[in-house]
Amino acid sequence: MSLTNPILCLFEITDPNLIVTGISKERCSTNQRIHVVHATLSYQLLKCPHCGHKSLIKNGTHMSHLRLGTLSGGRYEMHLKRQRYQCKDCSKTCGAKTKLVNRNETFTHNIKHQVIVLARDMLTSKEIAKLCGISPSSVQRILNANIHLAYRVKHLPENLCFDEFRSCNHWMSFNCCDAVSIQLAGRALDNERTQTIRTIQDKHSRIYHILKSQWRLFHLDEIKANDSKAVYLRGINEYMTQQNAIDLALDAFPRFRSVYQTYQGILSAIHQKDANAFQSLLTNYQPTSNQMDITINTFIKNGSALLNSCRYPFSNGPIEGLNRKIKALKRNCFGFRNIDNFFIRISLIHE
Ligand SMILES: [Zn+2]
Repeated sequence: MSLTNPILCLFEITDPNLIVTGISKERCSTNQRIHVVHATLSYQLLKCPHCGHKSLIKNGTHMSHLRLGTLSGGRYEMHLKRQRYQCKDCSKTCGAKTKLVNRNETFTHNIKHQVIVLARDMLTSKEIAKLCGISPSSVQRILNANIHLAYRVKHLPENLCFDEFRSCNHWMSFNCCDAVSIQLAGRALDNERTQTIRTIQDKHSRIYHILKSQWRLFHLDEIKANDSKAVYLRGINEYMTQQNAIDLALDAFPRFRSVYQTYQGILSAIHQKDANAFQSLLTNYQPTSNQMDITINTFIKNGSALLNSCRYPFSNGPIEGLNRKIKALKRNCFGFRNIDNFFIRISLIHE
């Protein structure tokens, strides 16, 4: 019944055990007017989670207050009556569970996801708090709990760009990245891959799993793709060579094949420092109505700089790009007092 409830559909709540009993307007502790969705959570629980005996009886309800977020500027909360159960055998009690929130928390998973998405758009904590109907300190708490900075990287890249930027309290911080990453073309390839995935109806098919789970194979330099040794590929759950998996996906989708071939052409020209090959790739490119067209146009506009990067071994382009984004974040958020919070926000804009 609850799956067809329009209020639950609006908040994308799919728990079949939730039943909406009403909606009202109330004032919260800060005297702010809020919309309250009243609901109950109950289901038939057979075995006691403590002793395993089938001797449970219903034992009243417990009220939970959940934050649902905002809709047209109004703040929405859910007052949820959860069923309690008592075991006649061991006398212990337990409650009905829902995937809507974690245990002992009031923020739903939807609201946490919304906070992270807005933080990627370089908004201040105050703005995010206003849009989600929560407090700025809750925004920071959600980010601290869900974003974990890498303690160390597995291995350092062969070519490293490094620079410094002013972080907070007049401190300077060190920033470094891989000098040979080709993000723009890689993103165009990923964009076409995800669009291709959406067209596949059979979600259990082999090609669906190749495109979904083995995305790293398509970013691999085609010379490095192994075509002799069959390995167990996770997601597909089969033994096959890397080249075989790539070919299966490319044969099924010719448009994805053309984007893949362009990406590989760019990759090989830049890795081999072959300015002529790169120039001919840009001039002979045939538009295919996807994001690769925009990438190639950007490359044509910045032609001389890119050709120089092919002729000469090093460029400080990637690190300058990163620093520009960091400065924009600092300006948008009016600076940061806490360096840990600043680094969490930097990790979000660089993903
Ligand atoms: Zn029991």
